[in-house]
Amino acid sequence: MPTGEIVIDLGAIRSNFRWLKRQLVLGSELAAVVKADAYGLGVERIVPVLAEEGCRVFFVTTAEEALVVRHVSKHSTIYVLNGITESQDWELYSRDYGIRPVLNNLNQVDQWLEVRGAGELAAGIQLDTGMTRYGLTEAQLTPLKKRLEGGVVPSLVMSHLACAEDELHWLNSVQMRRFKHFVDVLDLGQNSGCILSLANSSGIFLGEGYHFALVRAGAALYGINPQPEQINKMAGVLNLRAKVAQVRFVDSPTTVGYGATHQINARTRVATVPVGYADGFLRALGGRASAYIGDTCVPVIGRVSMDAITLDISGVPEAVDVETEPVELIGPRRPVDVVASEAGTIAYEILARISHRIRRVYIDEVGGE
Ligand SMILES: *Cc1c(COP(=O)(O)O)cnc(C)c1O
Repeated sequence: MPTGEIVIDLGAIRSNFRWLKRQLVLGSELAAVVKADAYGLGVERIVPVLAEEGCRVFFVTTAEEALVVRHVSKHSTIYVLNGITESQDWELYSRDYGIRPVLNNLNQVDQWLEVRGAGELAAGIQLDTGMTRYGLTEAQLTPLKKRLEGGVVPSLVMSHLACAEDELHWLNSVQMRRFKHFVDVLDLGQNSGCILSLANSSGIFLGEGYHFALVRAGAALYGINPQPEQINKMAGVLNLRAKVAQVRFVDSPTTVGYGATHQINARTRVATVPVGYADGFLRALGGRASAYIGDTCVPVIGRVSMDAITLDISGVPEAVDVETEPVELIGPRRPVDVVASEAGTIAYEILARISHRIRRVYIDEVGGE
């Protein structure tokens, strides 16, 4: 273990995919969102596993990410959420690699129509029903419809929920109604040949009315709780662990770390672990998080450095060899959602920021059911 390692259970991802699929209304398909290197967990290992489980549609953010998915999955449908960006050669991406842009504005629609020519290049269209980020607004539906005249049908029409993890949020049903209305205006409903998609992971739990033909799940596949108000039903996917680099016995008053923010007055054992914010252990966790050594929960004391943290391991029994025992920083007893709330952020950010100095190790365990 050079600095730290993250053990990723592909079997847990498999079982999360199967379980989420079972929650969908009949006729709705589960797509996997694997942007940002599958939320930092390694797209090249995760896509083949999901494909084996029957996943046929993948979403990424950029064309470069799409090429990586295509490299490990020859036959899947791949959508690029950022759509066409100028510098990219869409003839190549679309024609040679079969990668589909999600068109987010009229400019992108025009570029696509130009590239497409008389051909059949597929693309998705994003509608803005309340995110105010990407997608065409209600005012742009008429110009869009004009451009689609003559039987040009996008392969996908999607929108994105802003508050899906909050089941009672007023915006959820507003977005759903707008989505349906926009689709009606565009004549892209049933029998148009266009696939409709609204829900992310959390959107699945808002009810079957949110599922439409395709659900785009990311977070829940990777073990993040899609229903933060309830017990997490997803299988835990990762274990971020490290080894103690050094132990110091402190027996006179002293302070720990940058800014001398932690004061030690009584006899204390302090362990230094070579994982810091450059590894993705966020600085905000200093003085807030804890870790496990054996069965003992130990607090992170003082500030998080770029390359190290310090733990008060006074409570670890003498019988435990702290030099060899792995230190669990994120894992079954330190769920990523808990770590995130200690850092004042969301689990998505914790995952996406685990740096590549942390070695990825893959196992395939839970899936044997
Ligand atoms: C990231 C993303 C998703 C996946 O959301 P999760 O909450 O991770 O399931 C779906 N759709 C769009 C447009 C996204 O950007």
